[in-house]
This record gives sequence, structure tokens and C-alpha cells, in this order.
Amino acid sequence: MEKITDFFGSMVFDDRIMKATLSEKVYKSLKRTIVKGTPLDISVANAVAAAMKEWAVEKGATHYTHWFQPMTGVTAEKHDSFISPAPDGRVIMEFSGKELVKGEPDASSFPSGGLRATFEARGYTAWDPTSYAFIKDGTLYIPTAFCSYTGEALDKKVPLLRSMEAINKQALRILKLFGNTSVKSVKTSVGPEQEYFLVDRDMWKQRKDLIMTGRTLFGAMPPKGQEMDDHYFGSIKPRVAEYMADLDRELWKLGILAKTKHNEVAPAQHELAPIYDTTNIAADHNQLTMEVMQKVALRHGLVCLLHEKPFAGVNGSGKHNNWSISTDQGENLLSPGETPAENAQFLLFLAAVIKAVDDYQDLLRLSVATAGNDHRLGANEAPPAVISIFLGDELTAVLDAIENDTPYGGTTKEKMKLGVDVLPQFSKDTTDRNRTSPFAFTGNKFEFRMLGSSNSISCANIHLNAAVAEVLRQFADELESVSDFNSALHELIKRTIKEHKRIIFNGNGYDDAWIAEAEKRGLMNLKTTADAMPHICDKKNVDMLTSHGIFTEAEIFSRCDIMLENYVKTVNIEATTMVDMARKEIIPAVAKFAADTASAVSVKKSVSKAACKYETKLVTELSELIDEMDTATTELETAIAEFKDIDEIIKASEFVRDTMLPAMDKLRSAADKAETVTSATYWPFPAYDKLLFGV
Ligand code: ADP
Ligand code: MG
Repeated sequence: MEKITDFFGSMVFDDRIMKATLSEKVYKSLKRTIVKGTPLDISVANAVAAAMKEWAVEKGATHYTHWFQPMTGVTAEKHDSFISPAPDGRVIMEFSGKELVKGEPDASSFPSGGLRATFEARGYTAWDPTSYAFIKDGTLYIPTAFCSYTGEALDKKVPLLRSMEAINKQALRILKLFGNTSVKSVKTSVGPEQEYFLVDRDMWKQRKDLIMTGRTLFGAMPPKGQEMDDHYFGSIKPRVAEYMADLDRELWKLGILAKTKHNEVAPAQHELAPIYDTTNIAADHNQLTMEVMQKVALRHGLVCLLHEKPFAGVNGSGKHNNWSISTDQGENLLSPGETPAENAQFLLFLAAVIKAVDDYQDLLRLSVATAGNDHRLGANEAPPAVISIFLGDELTAVLDAIENDTPYGGTTKEKMKLGVDVLPQFSKDTTDRNRTSPFAFTGNKFEFRMLGSSNSISCANIHLNAAVAEVLRQFADELESVSDFNSALHELIKRTIKEHKRIIFNGNGYDDAWIAEAEKRGLMNLKTTADAMPHICDKKNVDMLTSHGIFTEAEIFSRCDIMLENYVKTVNIEATTMVDMARKEIIPAVAKFAADTASAVSVKKSVSKAACKYETKLVTELSELIDEMDTATTELETAIAEFKDIDEIIKASEFVRDTMLPAMDKLRSAADKAETVTSATYWPFPAYDKLLFGV
């Protein structure tokens, strides 16, 4: 058997390969670019390109592509082959530094929310040397950022890199105040846990809703759902185990640190978690992971569903964004320390995150808002749409003691003086078994649990990094000018706790009582994408994001438009698919069953005196349900027609929320009732029991 260590990263142009294939001078210069961001000399680019090409061609690659993350949320690529004609009729394989560093995709059809129209007709892709190039399907993939010629970001990577720079800058100011001057850089890291469903491909093919929208738009609950809780961490079925093994192998070849895998709560639901990495690399790897998951599934006769809510009535899929900040010297700034100074520093960063999450609840909420994720948040299975922070009892008690100047703990009767006293030890393991919190402290990191399974992790991390950078800036501004650092620090932390403790909630987030309590505390409850998204354009958010250079004002407005367009288009496609399935498949099937039952009645009555009470009742019920479905379908058709005439995007999103989605619910409810009384042999496509238990 081949060992993992032998093939791990075999398709990646990583540091090992760079060292082995580049001259020492070129290698050093490239490393400077990777670590410090120094501009790359064209001669160095040429040398790197040549080495990359040699390596890739050796591994069977024929093409290269600039791989980028446009606003659609999926990745984009345009493949060019390496071939170049030689004068004697042969071809030679060529790849220049210029081609490595910069590409010009014909990008006019990527959503830009009007940015390209305003600024420049075309965009270009620029190599991100901090994320390794790799080979997939015979093509050399070069991770890139996508910008307009005037420098506006047209993708999700550029603002992500900017947000990492913002937090780096502000965190370094804070560290300096603690006498930490040898630290050169501070980076955020992320480990995204990815949930997904697997269904049988032949069954998938029979469902227009799964094909067109990635989720089931109809389907009554099977007799057995997830109520037995027997799937969670249950033993993995052989076919799924083979898929997972194959998937791990493919990911490892691409240098992705796939670490844990297990069954999830719902039947047919699973999870994969990688080992955490620097945020932009984690984002690239998560995009790649989602792609590979889907591709590998096909080889196993399966389809991998990444939709947030593929099935009504069973848990949906999310993505947990485990996030921390650490220095280039390996110190995790969210890890409680052992000395008074380390503790004070930890508490300051903790306070910064608490304030950031409270001040920018709306930005965090809207960073995960999509049509798909709206089905999860607040649906008693995922965190609610209200943002709050879970800290655990011990840490909360520490903060209480600081806020109220009261002694902490049973043993020391002293009040705690920050920067002087050692923090009491709190055990890591008790920090988090609360799975209902949207934003939980888990010992040395925060877990942001609101992301949808298909979301790019970029948006959430852009807003999180930005919000924390902003608060660190405010803290640094305040502390840099004081004479007595320790007492100023103490006062700042105390004040921050007092002002922002409303965001801390350690109880059950699924409880309705919490939603009422949250409202009393003045926390935001942005239930849908239509409610959340426009807040990105609020002055406080625009001011903050632009002041850190993360977005320009134009970029923010264009992003709001793009995300809302995505929302309304998604729902419109779903509505249209529902009408199609109702008219062409469901209503005819139920009508056929009713007609066959009715003719059976007349046959039976012609040969016997039977009253046929059951059949008669059934035919009546079916006929009523057919009428109900027809009426609901007509209403939905009317909504779709009305929607076409709405030009203004905010109005369109409100129409989708207030009219289209309720009309879809009505049709679904009629059809699901019909399904429960229609013979399975008449039902036009595989039902939930087959889909959920068919693998
Ligand atoms: P669970 O949430 O299921 O208890 P783990 O504690 O194993 O899972 O962590 C889940 C994810 O958090 C993994 O992807 C892991 O790599 C990541 N993680 C662990 N430590 C950190 C950290 N310091 N920063 C960011 N992510 C981390
Ligand atoms: Mg987790």
C-alpha cells in the first residue's frame, strides 16, 4: 500500500518543489514575495513560470488556468494550453512569467454589480503567490485575485486579503503596547468544517428539483427521519466509506489537510473537517474541497449535495468557521496565557472580539445570507438568525468579576487586577458543548457556526476580520496615549464588558424564549436575506469597511446588488421549477391515480353491490387536493409573472420574501399532502425515504 506521506501534496507546487526546482536566488526572492509581499521581479516570475511548467508537464499537464473566485460564489477558470508553434511545424510547451502573473479572462459575464461598466470594460487576474499552484485534471491551476484595471475588487479574494492586512496592522499596534516588538506579522487562521449530503445518482437524475436547484422542492417526510438520532457518528456504510476514502486521497494529493470525517445528524448527511490554515489558503482549499467532493461522488454513482437545505424536515447543512488570530512566532492570541501580561493581552483580544461582534452583528449576519441558508437559520436546527456569543460559564464569571470589581472564584478572595494578577485557570474542555450558539468560544478560537454549507468562507471572514480590526484600532488609539497602561487597560476591558455584554448568551439558542430576550436586549434579528443584505450599505458599515481599505464605497454597493440578485434569481428558478413539476408531473400523476381509482369503483359497482366507501372517499380527497394544487400553482404562476416586472432590486427581494416564497410553501404543502395519499407506484419521482435511505 502506498503511504499517505508519499503522495500527500504530490499535485502541489509547494515549498519542497520550489526549493528543488528553483535557483537559490529565485527561491529566496519568491519567498520574500510570499512572506512579505514584496513585488515580484519579472525575471523571477519568468524563472518560476519555467519551473512550474516543467514540473506540470512532467506530471501530464497540458493546460494552465488562472483560478479565481468571482462573486458567483463558485470558482471560475479558463484553460489555455502550453503549446506554442515552432518554425519547423512542431509545438513547444511554453509558459512565461507574464502569463503566470497576470491573466485577462473575458470576464464580461461575471456579476460585477455595475462595477465594470462604471470603471473599466475588462478585468484581470493576478497571481496570489501565497496560495500554492496545483494540478487538477491535467491542468496547472494558478490561484489568482480578480480585479478591474482601476483596482476595484471583482472577486472575494481581494477583499479577504485586504481584511487580513487590516487585522495584521491593528493587532501589531496592540502587541507593541504589551512590549511585544519582535512579532513581524499577525495572521488569522480558519478551519472550516464542511457538511454535505450524499444521494444515489440514478435517483437524483429523476428529480428536476435536485438537478435545477440542488434541493428538493417537494417531498413528504418518511415514517423514519432523524428522530432516532442513530445516524450521528454512526457507523459509515461501505459505499459511503469508499467515497470518503477516495475523497481523502484526492484532497491529500492537492495538499489539503482533510482530517476528520463522520456521519452527521440527518440520514445521508456527513461532515469533513480539515486542519486549520491561514485564512486565504483555507478559503482556496474549501472551494477546492467542495469541487472535489462533487466530482468524486460521480465516480461512486453518487451526487454530493452542498445545498443548505436539501430536504425539509431533516437537518440542513452548514459550515463551521473555526477562527483564530496568531503571530508569526506561533502565539495564538485567543489562547488564555499563563502570566499576568499574557492574560491581560488575551482578555483584551477577547474583549475586542466581543465588541466587534456586537457592533457589527449585521455585517456578520449578512455575510452568510443566501436563499439557501435562509432555510436553516432560525429553523431550530442551526443557530438562530440572531447573533450572540457563547463564552462558557467560567470565562463569563471572569468577565463578571472584572466588570463588577468583585472577587473571582472560591479560593482567591482578591479582586483581580489585570496585568498584575494571574487569571484563574479555566478548563478548556468545559468551554463548549453548546451547539446552539452562532458564535462560540471554544478554548482558543471562535467558532462562527452560521455559514451555509455552500457559502464561500470568504465573506464571513472578510467581515469578521474587518470588524475585529476596527475595534483593535479603537483600542490602540485609546491605549497608545495613556501614561498608566495597566490601569487604562483594566478600565477599557471593564467598560467594554459593560457596554457589550448583551451579546453574550450561554443558554439554548434554539429556545423561543431567547429570541424574545434578544429583542429586549436590542439585538438584531434579521430573518431573511432580504432583511439582512441592505444593511451592508448602512453608513456605519460603509465608513468602517472603507476606512480600513477593505472595500471602496462602489464595491460595497455593487456587492449588495449582486447578493440580492443572487437571492431573487435563486428563488425565481425554484419557483419556475416547482410550477413545471406540479403541472407536468405531480398533478397528472395524482389525477391518473384518482381516475384509475374512480374507474375501479365503477367496475366494482357494476359487478357487485359494494358501496366502495373507501375508494369514493379517496377519489373525493384526491380531487380536492388536485384542485388545491392547481389553485396554488396558478398563484405561483401569477407571482412569477409579477416578479418579471419589478426592476428595482430591493423591491424584487421583498417581493420574493413576501409573495413568492409563501406561494411556494402553499403549493408544496398541497403536493406533500397529496403524496401521502397517493400510491407510491404512481408517484412520478423518488420520494424522501428512497433518497434518504437509498445509499
Ligand atoms: P469540533 O468543533 O467538532 O469539536 P475540533 O475542535 O476538532 O472540532 O475543531 C474543528 C476545526 O477547528 C478543525 O478544522 C480544526 O483544525 C480547527 N481548529 C483547531 N484549532 C484551531 C485554531 N487555533 N484556529 C482555527 N481553527 C482551529
Ligand atoms: Mg465544530
